[in-house]
Amino acid sequence: SLNKMNYIRLRKNNLCVENLPAHKLAKKYKTPFYCYSLAQLKNNYHAVNNAFKTIKPIICFSIKSNSNLALLKELKKMGAGADVVSIGELLKATKVGISAKKIVFSGIGKTEEEIRMAIKKRVLLINAESESEVNLINKISKKISIKTSIGIRLNPNVTGKTHKKISTGGKNEKFGLVYKDFINLCKKISKMKNLKLEGISVHIGSQITNVKPFKEVLSAINKIINKTKINFKFIDLGGGMGISYTKKGRQLNLKQYAQLVNKFIKNKNSKIIFEPGRFIIGNTGILITKVIYIKKSNAKNFIILDAGMNNLMRPALYDAHHQILPLKKTNNFLKGNIEFVGPICESADKFSKEKRFQKIKEGDFVGLTNVGAYGMSLSSNYNTRPTIAEIIVKGSKHKIIRKRQSLQNLVNN
Ligand code: PLP
Repeated sequence: SLNKMNYIRLRKNNLCVENLPAHKLAKKYKTPFYCYSLAQLKNNYHAVNNAFKTIKPIICFSIKSNSNLALLKELKKMGAGADVVSIGELLKATKVGISAKKIVFSGIGKTEEEIRMAIKKRVLLINAESESEVNLINKISKKISIKTSIGIRLNPNVTGKTHKKISTGGKNEKFGLVYKDFINLCKKISKMKNLKLEGISVHIGSQITNVKPFKEVLSAINKIINKTKINFKFIDLGGGMGISYTKKGRQLNLKQYAQLVNKFIKNKNSKIIFEPGRFIIGNTGILITKVIYIKKSNAKNFIILDAGMNNLMRPALYDAHHQILPLKKTNNFLKGNIEFVGPICESADKFSKEKRFQKIKEGDFVGLTNVGAYGMSLSSNYNTRPTIAEIIVKGSKHKIIRKRQSLQNLVNN
């Protein structure tokens, strides 16, 4: 498939990030820390760009998946726009130089302050999710004499067959407007003087690895277009493109998705927008962590890491599985009930259970893989632990792109 190239991999028994053995980084930087491959980031962005090259979509990187400024700068250089969901993300997008004309603002609970900022910056689209929000956007636009471009998010009643906590497209979810409400709101907007209805947007959830739900989404959009006869300038298909989290796992077939979209867009003069997060950033990152203690208890081997659920919340929040790899591979194995856990005072603070793992000892390092998306961005100071460093690797070079939070800063906040 289009995204096969893997820049974080075993080379001669060393887990490497591009040309750099990860154990070298583990000796240099205080663990735990996130480490990203720039080549992988470029590879992924270009994979999306190439798959859809015939329709030249606007690719709005979903900043919620990873908001590191250095990574955002790299994406900006590649031509990415941004999907933002808060004033903070909006300011970060503009700070790295992403043009407002490539920014879409999503979210069901935008505040007045956020809407005012988005209007003033003249973002490409504010994707509204309720009639109240539309009224507020109109009111603020009127006050500052601007005609604002908006989209409406459709709830297409399509579920992505993904984990229930990352599924957003079902009719019982809080997102978007269901068919009837969507149609009614279109009529109301046509009478609002300070709004231009330019977009229809959808996002049915994350980590979707099969094109079928996307196909259903496209027919739901066609149904709206046929009914309203609106020639939407932008059709925003959201993100959700799934990646593989294991060696044999599947990822979304971009080629198939592109074929569907190409067919859908034929005879329409709308521009397609995508909001991918995970597909672009997910496999670029690894979380490097040290084994603090190994504890035998009740016929189990607990491997206690210095990274916890505050650093990587996906396993606790979504039952997500991130493969754990030793930084140096050997052929001696430990068998039995092995459980990798973090140091946090929560029983949900566990990463994976294994029946077989390479023999490791206290002080060794391991890497949690595919943590570039919703890793650092979902992290917290829970248990009053500092936010950790982020490192980027380019070839054999490495540098810090976010410092570990100092104890002083942590304690005084
Ligand atoms: N767009 C919207 C509106 C979202 O809510 C999300 C994620 O939750 C995304 C895009 C990005 O999704 P993904 O990382 O699966 O591509």
